[in-house]
Amino acid sequence: MRKLILCLAFLIIPGLRDPSAAFAQTQPQVLYGQFDPIVIRSDRTQPVLFEAKVIGSVSRVALEYTTDPQHAGVDLQMRDDGTGGDRVAGDSVYTVTLQASMITQGLQVNDVFRRFVGFFRVVPVFGNVFEGNVFAEVITDQIPRLAITSLAADAQRTTHVMNLVDSDYATGVNPDVTRITKRFYQLAGDDYDFLNIVNGLSRFQNRFHFATKNQVLGIGQNVFHSAVEYGSAGNLSGINMFPISSFFDGADSGYQHELGHQWINYLNMQPLAFGLPHWPISSMASGIMGFTFPGVGEGLDYPCLLTPEPGGIRLTPRNGPPVFTDLDLYLMGMLPASQVAEQIVFTEQNKALVLPCNNQLFTGFVTRISINDILNKFGPRVPDSINAQKNFKVGTILVSNRLLSEDEMAFYNFFARRAEETKEVAIHIGLLKATAKPFVLSTRGLGALNAEINSPTLLTEEGTPRALALDSVTWTRDPFSISSSRNFSADGRTRIMLFAAGVELQPGETAAIVTAQAEDWQQRTFPLSVEYVGKLPGANWLTQLNLRMSDEVSNLDSIMVNIRLRGVTSNKVLINLK
Ligand SMILES: [Zn+2]
Repeated sequence: MRKLILCLAFLIIPGLRDPSAAFAQTQPQVLYGQFDPIVIRSDRTQPVLFEAKVIGSVSRVALEYTTDPQHAGVDLQMRDDGTGGDRVAGDSVYTVTLQASMITQGLQVNDVFRRFVGFFRVVPVFGNVFEGNVFAEVITDQIPRLAITSLAADAQRTTHVMNLVDSDYATGVNPDVTRITKRFYQLAGDDYDFLNIVNGLSRFQNRFHFATKNQVLGIGQNVFHSAVEYGSAGNLSGINMFPISSFFDGADSGYQHELGHQWINYLNMQPLAFGLPHWPISSMASGIMGFTFPGVGEGLDYPCLLTPEPGGIRLTPRNGPPVFTDLDLYLMGMLPASQVAEQIVFTEQNKALVLPCNNQLFTGFVTRISINDILNKFGPRVPDSINAQKNFKVGTILVSNRLLSEDEMAFYNFFARRAEETKEVAIHIGLLKATAKPFVLSTRGLGALNAEINSPTLLTEEGTPRALALDSVTWTRDPFSISSSRNFSADGRTRIMLFAAGVELQPGETAAIVTAQAEDWQQRTFPLSVEYVGKLPGANWLTQLNLRMSDEVSNLDSIMVNIRLRGVTSNKVLINLK
């Protein structure tokens, strides 16, 4: 029997807690581990590869194959000698070849398309053995395939996922996330409150969240604004990182937990400080944010409800998935302070950790904390529950080292879209098989997520902000003059052609549904009229737009142009003028 730690990405080996300390010079570094293909079709007959990049001195790299985490499996050596499916000898990418049936046979409904297939193990020459759980992702006919919109040589998207190719990021050589988000904003409008970044080549790390701005008062978090560093003009509030693709599911409480870190927990006061950045073991800990115990960084589930009674606290098991608590919802801007009950925190956290949740009446020490205690220390939440934003737009970026296939895009689209789900669904995250209440349910219907990637994308010259723009008459590139004598129209104004992906007119809609604006270097904006919107013959994903240049831009050297369709803005592209 193995000792398992639920909900964690990998088994924790004592002494390996801090990755930076763990992988000091003599310790090998595991950059990623991933199947090829990343998503395996359930009817596949060709073998599949499991590959892992491991740098450093290792004596052995192996996959212990077993579909039952409770039982020991078959030890399969992974090779880096150019044999057994290994593509390049000596490139630090270790490979094992598996028959597809070893993964696809026996897939159950409660696997939710993700199958446990064993333990990945690195035995170093010196130091501790690294061990991680391995999950294979399997697509069946139950996941609908979708149209893919090509955006550039390194980018494509479906309705809910943008796939960016960045080999250095994906393989862990240069994991600078700002490069990824900046590329995203070259292709999408600044309409997203949060971004999810999912690694196509999985790193053995836990999920995490970080804020890119905070303008909310009263939650204990500083006010700051660094969205611009990530390429957002200002709308982006935070980023959720998913280093392991099989741990990404929009419906999962873990996904909502990361989102919740935008507001929770920054209340650095006793007795709440004990649990930062989560809660101490308390009435709040049974919610999605869970608890932290000193020495354990992750938020752990506390599936026990605390109810005050005369003479003590009743401990009842929580039936069903965690939701946000009343205090969580207050901090998120969804509940007024008046609806937050008094909270109960165990005074002796060590004892609380081992307290059976068996309907007992607990009569030991507790500390009670009211919303007034929090208001007195941190002030009221501004904006309050009437004025706060409650519906959020979340964009999902999947970073890989090649463009994903139709199967792979459909697979991650399915999981990204589950953030919008309105009913309880089965989840399988890590070794946990359960149901989850998606965001709209876990917030009591007070909040909602929109996970659609629906920005129109104006095409640019590869890797630059310069628009693919042509004079509509001469078909020449910019710089354009505002007026032209060689113009067929009475006003003598130049019309330019731009090309866009993701512009789909509904039946009955005309060019009037699309608006365009120019912005100068002082960020002054001027409307440009859109005179024509139509599909390019032979390229159904591409739309041509004709824009009329206006007097206001006549003295400018260059303008940034974007378009807007049904309330969603596109990226901004550069057009040079003369
Ligand atoms: Zn957390």
